[in-house]
Amino acid sequence: MLDNLTQRLARVMKTLKGEARLTESNIADALREVRMALLEADVALPVVKDFIAAVKEKAVGEEVIGSLSPGQALVGVVHREMTKLMGEAHQGLNLAAQPPAIVLMAGLQGAGKTTTTGKLAKLLKETQKKKVLVVSCDVYRPAAIEQLKTVAAQAGVEFFPSSPSDKPEAIAAAAVDYAKRHYFDVLLVDTAGRLAIDAEMMDEIKRLHAALNPVETLFVVDAMLGQDAVNTARAFGEALPLTGVILTKLDGDARGGAALSVRHVTGKPIKFAGVGEKLSGLEAFHPERMASRVLG
Ligand code: GDP
Repeated sequence: MLDNLTQRLARVMKTLKGEARLTESNIADALREVRMALLEADVALPVVKDFIAAVKEKAVGEEVIGSLSPGQALVGVVHREMTKLMGEAHQGLNLAAQPPAIVLMAGLQGAGKTTTTGKLAKLLKETQKKKVLVVSCDVYRPAAIEQLKTVAAQAGVEFFPSSPSDKPEAIAAAAVDYAKRHYFDVLLVDTAGRLAIDAEMMDEIKRLHAALNPVETLFVVDAMLGQDAVNTARAFGEALPLTGVILTKLDGDARGGAALSVRHVTGKPIKFAGVGEKLSGLEAFHPERMASRVLG
């Protein structure tokens, strides 16, 4: 069992009792511990470097007040900076659009897009009383369309059927038209993912985005990807004007370093966290709690 960051810092900063101020030299060892803790939590190296630089800038010169030890003061700075980097407060979905509000789900195959589409549908239906339609534009995997149909039934929302012989944009246009004519509040559009980033997939989702003009474009990413989440996030962030991120599989062992990396790379808020395979396993993402998890 690894020691948490607070314990580690207490150890390296023991020698500093009575110091009234954090200085570059008295926090050097502690920053090395912070760096190690972040790497162990699977935060990508370039992100760790930027973060450490930011913490150093904030910490140096900080007064150690009252009963705090220098170690505690530094933990405070680290925690604050991390919460800030993760986006301060929870941000929900933006559905402020002429109905139907269109939400486009993007991400690699296996990230959890279809499951998350079902989770969001259930959440919007149950907590916001929205009339929700879901559609799959994954014309390559008939099983994916079937999976969304099953998930929609479980969520108690309507499923718009799609045929693998149609083009994704045509399916999307038909779903929008249907949603308008039947007064749906929200249309959730599930898309095809590949096992790795490829140009064809990116072109397709860009075309879908242009055709749909969604109010939310959500990047769904598996927290277990750890450091690899960075490259995926960068590719999707460059291809699409993302409005938010959903980090899945946080119920697993992942320490959550991917959260910091993805946020840093895309600059977009992580809006929800997937915490289980069931449709009830979706939670609002809270930066402060995530900071505690990453720091251990
Ligand atoms: P897609 O290919 O992106 O549509 O991914 P799926 O929705 O099919 O999900 C891939 C796998 O991840 C499935 O076995 C899901 O049950 C599982 N999954 C999705 N989200 C979560 C989550 O938050 N926690 C866990 N433990 N499993 C998840």
